[in-house]
Amino acid sequence: MGLPKIVVLGAGYGGLMTITGLQKKLNENEAEVTLVNQNPYHYVTTKLHEPAAGTLDPDYARVNISDVIDERKVKFIQDVVTKIDKDNKEVHLKGASEPLKYDYLVIGLGSAPETFGIEGLLENAFFIRDLNGVRKIREHIEYQFSQYHQVDESKRDELVTIIVGGAGFTGIEFVGELVDRIPQLCREFDIPREKVRLINIEAAPTVLPGFDKELVDYAVNYLEGKGVEFRINTPIEQCKEDGVILKGGEEIKSATVVWTGGVRGNKLVEESGIETMRGRVKVDQYLRAPGHEDIFIIGDSSLVINEENERPYPPTAQIAMQQGQNVVKNLVAILRGGSMEPFKFHLKGTLASLGSHSAMGIVGKKKIYGKPALILKRLNDARWYFIIGGLGLAMKKFKL
Ligand code: FAD
Ligand code: NAD
Repeated sequence: MGLPKIVVLGAGYGGLMTITGLQKKLNENEAEVTLVNQNPYHYVTTKLHEPAAGTLDPDYARVNISDVIDERKVKFIQDVVTKIDKDNKEVHLKGASEPLKYDYLVIGLGSAPETFGIEGLLENAFFIRDLNGVRKIREHIEYQFSQYHQVDESKRDELVTIIVGGAGFTGIEFVGELVDRIPQLCREFDIPREKVRLINIEAAPTVLPGFDKELVDYAVNYLEGKGVEFRINTPIEQCKEDGVILKGGEEIKSATVVWTGGVRGNKLVEESGIETMRGRVKVDQYLRAPGHEDIFIIGDSSLVINEENERPYPPTAQIAMQQGQNVVKNLVAILRGGSMEPFKFHLKGTLASLGSHSAMGIVGKKKIYGKPALILKRLNDARWYFIIGGLGLAMKKFKL
């Protein structure tokens, strides 16, 4: 009999936390560990709003997988997962003729945009999803600005109107970057700042629904002061090539619509026949798919209920990382005949950046605003680089 095969799908927050933990804790002769990811690099999802707006070089949100794995202990396969076959305990890959066998599978394939079936969104909107996707957003916005003086006056407003659909954390953080970027673009392309409109549209009665009101007010006041127009209580009902239609019929013309209206689990999980809610699997106390003791699901494709309010924890990097740590402990326990530890999420806080000069959030029970909050947010980014790649990587990628 060969060594037990552990296959980890996805090199995101959950997947890399698992891989780096396993390579620390396991000896070479205890298991055959394989990581599958579609790119040869990890993209730092929590920073993608920055290269999307053009305020950060994408290189700062990218880490080569070869820089974080120990090749003696982990085999890396760069490929796209196309199917999870839980009955035969194998994973199908786009570029391989033979499926990959597993004894234990860890699914960390992240999320996909939730579009709620809104007409035209998939075809016409942009999504802050991965590195190539955010490069497109940056280039598209730059191109629209570059065309301002090339088109008829009647077409100009639309080119410099940017709509962000959804004022959750992703929407707010992206808008925060854009308020820093727009003045640079205006200077570069000789466009008066007052001609540019940045509109953040939210279906709920408030920006950042469910978050602390004082902090929401701080963010809204800060961003409105920088020229952001908020439209709350106003669901987007259709997205067209040249803008959006809101509930009630109002149309706003815009050459750029970025959808940040929410996420759902990766469709491969749903397609594997495991029961899901909005693509996410309500996992058991050890983060396993119900009825499948060999499949752990972590990160955005999993769903863990907060027992205090009976509602799911929001999908975040913070919970994905803690889940990864828990899976490592439990896989080691399984291999060594120990007992498993149930997963318990410890919320350390929530911090949201508002561009390169401010942020806000809660750490522990304390609310923080402005530059101190931003410094803490950046240190938190550095902590992630440190966890996966040590001090060298943290120093290389850290940017205040
Ligand atoms: P991901 O980190 O998204 O990784 C999934 C991985 O799977 C990727 O590497 C992807 O390439 C790979 N993959 C997907 N499909 C396939 C396939 N078919 N084949 C092979 N590989 C595949 N959370 C916080 O806690 N704090 C924050 O400050 C924060 N900021 C955010 C800012 C933005 C702009 C966004 C969009 C999200 C933010 N989040 C934040 C949420 C957080 O990023 C996610 O919850 C987290 O990334 C989830 O981790 P994951 O491991 O599930 O997935
Ligand atoms: P979200 O679900 O948190 O927010 C989406 C927003 O879009 C909601 O406010 C929703 O009411 C709105 N919306 C939905 N349909 C709409 C419509 N038709 N028209 C207008 N608005 C509509 O999604 P997100 O912001 O992408 O965040 C995804 C996850 O990532 C969350 O769990 C979030 O907490 C996490 N995240 C965390 C941070 C951070 O901690 N700094 C940053 C980004 C994302």
